[in-house]
Amino acid sequence: MKYAIGLDLGGSSIKYGLVGNEGTIVKEGKIPSCADESAEKIVGQLLLAVDTVTQYAKENDMEICGIGIGTPGIVDEKNGIVLGGAENLAEWENIPLAKIVKEHSGLDTYVNNDANVMGLAEARFGAAKGCTDVVFLTVGTGIGGAVIIGGKLYGGYQNRGTELGHFPFVANGEPCACGSVGCLETYASAAAMVKRYRKMYEEKHKSSSPDVDGEHIINLYKSGDETAIAAIDENCNFLGHAIAGFINIFSPQKVIVGGGLTDAGEFYIDKIRDAAMCYVMSDCAVNTTIERAVLGNKAGFMGAVGLCFSSQ
Ligand SMILES: [Zn+2]
Repeated sequence: MKYAIGLDLGGSSIKYGLVGNEGTIVKEGKIPSCADESAEKIVGQLLLAVDTVTQYAKENDMEICGIGIGTPGIVDEKNGIVLGGAENLAEWENIPLAKIVKEHSGLDTYVNNDANVMGLAEARFGAAKGCTDVVFLTVGTGIGGAVIIGGKLYGGYQNRGTELGHFPFVANGEPCACGSVGCLETYASAAAMVKRYRKMYEEKHKSSSPDVDGEHIINLYKSGDETAIAAIDENCNFLGHAIAGFINIFSPQKVIVGGGLTDAGEFYIDKIRDAAMCYVMSDCAVNTTIERAVLGNKAGFMGAVGLCFSSQ
């Protein structure tokens, strides 16, 4: 068995794990990322996680073959440099992360975008295990995506692409956090669904909406609340349109959908699947199934480990 260290850097925490090449997690943990302090502090926390895991491996006579890191932002994955674009991490640009971590640990280090590594995790160890061609979407505050073609992460030239959440979904639509307008995530993220629910509630009741989140709306949906049903129906319909587009372009074996709302139950993915299959070109979808992600919040560090095993 080969083992590697996976690090999943997020806005509030770093999740880490020591994982075998078959996907067995032998150690995992979480420490604060200190994302709002400085790049130096964030790097310090990453190295602290590395030290914790290497110490554990040493005590248990386990050999580590490398380190993988998933980070928000645009990543030059060939050189392991974070280029920028991670708005919730202080000073997180032009960081030669692979070099820093390798110099500290003596281990080969691989870095890629966080949504990309989550997709890789599902393809290697999770819901799309055994598939070579996969489209992955994570639907939360925003929408992240990954595309795996021929068993490899596809990122476009210099790994600057596959921003599936920023596919222009509505021409001249609502402003998006990325600076453009009409992006998919502006319409179909969990945050967008909550916003739509509140708007529909206010129109219907002529009073301000209670403070609700996605989970609350799912519960209302299950209890038959009309506004919640309309908001969820619309969200699944939007995602279905987008997924139909991705199937028409990539014709993957599986489309995997992850993120908070997919924990709501199989009904949510069923609705997305029904919508997607309504809009897709059927010839493009003959080999495609749409399924729920299974790795949850372990997908980040498991996919990071996948970067090591894919490179060796
Ligand atoms: Zn956008």
